[in-house]
Formats: sequence, structure tokens, C-alpha cells
Amino acid sequence: MGYQMTNQRERGRSRIDLHLHSTASDGTTPPSGVVELAAAHGLRSIALTDHDSTSGIAEAREAGSRIGVEVIAGIELSTAVKRGELHMLGYLIDPENEILRERLQRFRDSRERRAETMVDRLREAGIPITLERVLDLAAGGSIGRPHVARALVEAGQATSVSDAFERYLVRGKVGYVPHLRPSPADAIEFIHAAHGVAVLAHPYSTRDVETTVSELAGAGLDGLEVFYSLYNDEQQAFLAMLADQHDLVPTGGSDFHGTGEREGHEIGSANVPDETIDRLRRVVAARRCS
Ligand code: AMP
Ligand code: ZN
Ligand code: FE
Ligand code: FE
Repeated sequence: MGYQMTNQRERGRSRIDLHLHSTASDGTTPPSGVVELAAAHGLRSIALTDHDSTSGIAEAREAGSRIGVEVIAGIELSTAVKRGELHMLGYLIDPENEILRERLQRFRDSRERRAETMVDRLREAGIPITLERVLDLAAGGSIGRPHVARALVEAGQATSVSDAFERYLVRGKVGYVPHLRPSPADAIEFIHAAHGVAVLAHPYSTRDVETTVSELAGAGLDGLEVFYSLYNDEQQAFLAMLADQHDLVPTGGSDFHGTGEREGHEIGSANVPDETIDRLRRVVAARRCS
């Protein structure tokens, strides 16, 4: 935590945050609440990037136009890779796009079936949580492991969400079940089909950053999440160099999931340059002309 605090002070206040979750997926704050918090933190523009869902965007936009915060339509997709995690962010997407809607619906359905399997496996291992409680906690949003983790904490089976992940939910543990995920190239393709730009989220979650970025750049990647709140100056400098090398727009965000939910992921805690959204818009415009 120490170095992040120092970096935050040195970097000054950002007016943009392009990685935020709400109750439309595994965040704990409703979309309008996220916008209110953004305004309270002095943010001018945000992107709502819920997992496999755009259902919070309309509410966020409504709140945004009332309060004076620009809301960019976003999405976060988990993709299928053998090792590590490769998450793809989509920005400036058309939430009404049929290809996108159909794909997201299938991913959400798979998440629901997966939650059922996770609960079954945990119960077989003698851990008494219920699907009913997990569904309650998800409250109609896209269901993720954090909802199962919260149910485990409530049931006294873990001391915190991250403890629940480490004990039961990370790959290799009894409650880990994968859900339907597109390949990274497929994710890029249907983000483009929905008129958006594709950005690699938290790049250090992937296995070999340099190789991954170079491969994805060849598959049409548009941007790299350089200014991720957890990354120190050295890591951000390296990612900025990679982005420059592959002609990718450097973006950034906090990966906020709710107040007090995750240390180091407070809203507005990433230092994102003011011109970022304009740069993303120029990529969309250039694709339209070509
Ligand atoms: P899912 O999409 O259901 O696979 O869950 C992914 C979500 O779980 C993401 O929001 C991650 O930030 C969160 N997550 C993954 N690993 C951990 C962990 N070790 N502790 C807390 N949250 C985690
Ligand atoms: Zn999440
Ligand atoms: Fe992610
Ligand atoms: Fe995220």
C-alpha cells in the first residue's frame, strides 16, 4: 500500500477513471451511485466496465447528465487463455448492438450455470452455502466469483473476500469453475463489431506481457491499460513504452468494485491523462474511414 499512496500524491488528481464496476456485475455500488462517487471525487469522465454486461450504462448516463459526469459505455470480458487471466476492456461500444447483446447474454447464462456448479462443488466439500444466497447477492447482475466469495464470508467460511478466493475460488481450488469465454481475438472482433475499441486490462495479469501485447496488437488491439492504480511508476513506464511501440492508446482506471471493497482500487485512484478519451475516439473515427 505504501508506494501506491506515495505515487498517488506525487501524481496528483486525475479527472478520468476508465475502469469501474457496479451492481450490474460484481461491484457493490449501483450505477447511479458510482457516478455520484465519481463526481464527489472530482472526476469529469468515467467508463462503466461491468463484466459481460452493459445493463448499468443507461442508469449511469442518466445520473451523469444530471450531475455533470460524462459516462463512456464500456465492458470487461474475461477471455480463454491457458495461464494467467486475460481481460479485455471495450470502450465507446454501442450497448444496443445485436452481435454484442447476443454474445453477452450467452456469457451471462454460462455464469449462472457456473455459479450453480460452484455451489454444488463447495457443498459436496462440506461447505454449506446456498445458490439462493449467491443469487440474492448478485441481485440480477452478471454473477461472478466475488458473489460466491461474499456468501462464503457471510457463512463464516472465510475471513474476507480475498481469503475466500485463496481458499476456494482460485484456479486449482475446489470451488473454481470456468465459464464460457471468447478467445482474446474473438473478444477484439466483436468489440469492433459493436463499434468500440479493445483495450487489454491490467496487462500484468497475463503470463508474458511483451509476447501477449505483441500478439494482440497483431489481432487488432487498440489500447493498453497502462495507468492501472495498482501498478507502480516503473511498471507503468514499461507499459507506456510497450503501448508506444505497438501504437496502442495508453488508458487507465482504478478497477473500483465498491467503497472499501478492495485496497488500492479506490475510485479515481489511477492517474489517467486528460486526452485519453479523445485518443480513443480518434481510433474509432479512423476505423470508420478505412
Ligand atoms: P469472475 O469473472 O467470476 O471469474 O471473477 C473475476 C473477479 O474476481 C474480478 O473482478 C477480479 O477482480 C476478482 N478476483 C479475482 N481474483 C481475486 C482475488 N484473489 N481476490 C479478490 N478478488 C479477486
Ligand atoms: Zn470484477
Ligand atoms: Fe479484470
Ligand atoms: Fe475489472
